[in-house]
Amino acid sequence: MTAVGTSTTPTPVDVVVIGGGIAGASAAWALAERASVVLVEQAPTAGYHATGRSASVLSETSGHSLVCALAAASRAFFEAPPDDFVGHPLLSPRGLLWVGQECDVDALDHLAARAQTVAPTVRRLTPAATLELVPHFRPAAVAGGATFEPDAMAIDTDALLQGYLRGLRRRGGHVFTSTTAIELSRWAAGWTVVCEGRVFQAPVVVDAAGAWGDVVATSAGVAPLGLEPRRRTACLAVLAGVDPTWPLVMDVAGRYYAEPESGGLLVSPADESPSEPCDAQAEELDVALALDRLGEATTLPLRSVRRAWAGLRTFSPDGAPVVGEDPDAPGFFWLVGQAGAGIKTAPAMAALLAALVRGESLPQALADRSVSAADLSPARLR
Ligand SMILES: Cc1cc2nc3c(=O)[nH]c(=O)nc-3n(C[C@H](O)[C@H](O)[C@H](O)COP(=O)(O)OP(=O)(O)OC[C@H]3O[C@@H](n4cnc5c(N)ncnc54)[C@H](O)[C@@H]3O)c2cc1C
Repeated sequence: MTAVGTSTTPTPVDVVVIGGGIAGASAAWALAERASVVLVEQAPTAGYHATGRSASVLSETSGHSLVCALAAASRAFFEAPPDDFVGHPLLSPRGLLWVGQECDVDALDHLAARAQTVAPTVRRLTPAATLELVPHFRPAAVAGGATFEPDAMAIDTDALLQGYLRGLRRRGGHVFTSTTAIELSRWAAGWTVVCEGRVFQAPVVVDAAGAWGDVVATSAGVAPLGLEPRRRTACLAVLAGVDPTWPLVMDVAGRYYAEPESGGLLVSPADESPSEPCDAQAEELDVALALDRLGEATTLPLRSVRRAWAGLRTFSPDGAPVVGEDPDAPGFFWLVGQAGAGIKTAPAMAALLAALVRGESLPQALADRSVSAADLSPARLR
């Protein structure tokens, strides 16, 4: 490793990316194709926060409509990443089954109609067809039937993250972990980024700091966007007889979700508790809620939990991700607000960010889906 930025004498680079989650890693990789890039991550390992705690499903039916389009635009990368990116497939079959009670019929119908415009294989299922796919439901829990997205896939998030980081280094970029960006100041031709023991100067900085996105902006004198981190809990229930081919099951009213994982069942109460940016931990009450809600909906004997965790999903004020240059701070690019979709949208978001930094036109995969740069720009929130 060269002595990049090891003293208080600033090291000049083209781009400093702040945050070593999936957003920062994917953006740094994309930018490093044509620029010198450093990525700084405050935690001892990249992916320590939200990225390492995700359920990692590629669905084109869950989330904001822009998120669905970004996920659809990312699919081609997941299916066929560059040759030297990863040694095995990034995707494996999963399927997503949105289920609902009698009172949820309208929500399931609406979801199916909206989803079919993005994912044509999505279909409505009767309660009987729902029970054929996952036989352990109590009839009342699926009395409204289901909306099924058969092409939803499980993403190997760690392989994706490591692929981006390896590729970044191969392109000449540098990754610094245990390195917090403490203060950013603007000068004539760009930004000085002061980290612990390292200083960089760059015309472009990318704020990919997840739950800390507004904190980083404030340290740069840039007005915060009003990002809201919300805690989401998951646990791994010990359970015999889980069929690993079951789809991810999501209650359409947001009561719970569950999917086969590591020989057990990953269960979440689909919680969204507002939180400060922090190292989120699972709370016992949320774990109990997850087991109770799934227990009410199914006959599965949910008794013990192998492990439980939580991560922060960070929302922008309008719920859509934020990608682009701050209108009042030239060279300061936002890549935040991914909420519960930062893994499945990373390839498209990184491609857009790189195009915006380079002053290029919108990537074709987004133009094809009628997504504009203005839809995602921070300017819409000012
Ligand atoms: C339980 C759960 C299930 C989920 N399921 C899915 C799913 O199925 N599909 C999907 O696509 N997404 C899912 N998500 C959402 C996904 O995990 C996030 O959207 C995504 O990981 C956000 O990535 P990020 O890089 O923006 O944030 P993070 O991974 O949190 O990375 C931001 C990084 O910035 C660093 N940082 C902050 N401040 C500084 C600083 N000053 N200097 C240096 N570094 C700094 C932090 O340490 C952090 O590592 C889920 C999330 C959770 C919690």
